Amino acid sequence: MLKPIILGVVGAFGVVACGGETNVTEVPGTPNGASNNPPNVTSAASVVAEELFEVVYVMAASDPDQDPVTLRIPILPAWLSLSGDTVSGRPQIGESSTSFTVIASDGKLADTLEVAVEVRMPANYPPLITSAARANAEELLGFSYVATAVDADGGAPTIALSGLPFWASASGDTVTGTPPRGAASSIIKVVASDGQFTDSLLVSVNVKSLNGEIQCKTDFGDPALSEYVLPYTVGRTFMVRQGNCFPNGGHNNWFAYDFDTPMGEAITASRTGIVRSVQNNFPDSGNVSGQENTVWVTHSDGTIVRYTHLMQGTARVAVGDSVFPGDTVGLSGNSGATGGTPHLHIALFKAGTTSFGRTNSLPMNFSNADGPHDSLNQLIMGSSYTALP
Ligand SMILES: [Zn+2]
Repeated sequence: MLKPIILGVVGAFGVVACGGETNVTEVPGTPNGASNNPPNVTSAASVVAEELFEVVYVMAASDPDQDPVTLRIPILPAWLSLSGDTVSGRPQIGESSTSFTVIASDGKLADTLEVAVEVRMPANYPPLITSAARANAEELLGFSYVATAVDADGGAPTIALSGLPFWASASGDTVTGTPPRGAASSIIKVVASDGQFTDSLLVSVNVKSLNGEIQCKTDFGDPALSEYVLPYTVGRTFMVRQGNCFPNGGHNNWFAYDFDTPMGEAITASRTGIVRSVQNNFPDSGNVSGQENTVWVTHSDGTIVRYTHLMQGTARVAVGDSVFPGDTVGLSGNSGATGGTPHLHIALFKAGTTSFGRTNSLPMNFSNADGPHDSLNQLIMGSSYTALP
């Protein structure tokens, strides 16, 4: 917060009304009692506000008869607001000088005072932090926040960062780090200084949990209604080696299945779509993450499926091809991070995404899978599934 400048003088100087006199008003319809005197607005008739600095004006009034006095302001300029008897606000650069009217009433008689608000340029503008007060992080994923600030006098304010969570560090204006599992949300303090004035901001870093309680307990829906069929030939049977959200392995908080398809097994399209991308050139024994031969297919609803760990050089489709359920897209292989065992990894992703991370993965089951399903209607790790016609 910028340091407020209190320019309204309360009570000490009596009334300095616009035009040199106070206005005593009889409230319509209210008889003027013989012994009643009007109240007086006693707060100042003018204030000076500097651009980008907060100004505070406190209304005050007295009543010769000690009657209770109510104070109000019918209309305020948009950048000012009223709380109790206090008017405050911060004029932006270019704001015009303005005024407002204070009315003090004892219920029968009223006094009004027009308060002139002169808006001036300050000798030195304060720095202003322009980066967001909220940042989203996610467990186990890299996070960064860049603090930014401007100064109307020119030059770059100096930025200081404090209150970092234990998993983060600061370098210059940037906070980076990776929240571990269970990391709490936290608040980072940003202070920008021009040498004379400072601006500060508390940034809420909201850490999204990947404990799986929300995502992994999704009901996959009735398999009979699934738009997908098993990604292998009708009549063939394979085991799910690793299922969705497998807590101790590669599908930790992902929706994905590994089927134990051997080298050379035909991998077939699960749903009608158009081939989006093909990786076909990686060796089958490298066990190197990122070197997975994969066919990507986009469906009519924009969702994208990946058929992964295919055998080198066996892709049967090219980018732009249409594929239909049962069409062979490639042969099962051992490319990329397979852990040394050939298998098919299949995963579905949200419509239109270009980020194929865990949070964009979607649950899927298969309309022709003959085998057990759990209470969420997902295929069960260790169980085998035969592709029905
Ligand atoms: Zn997998």
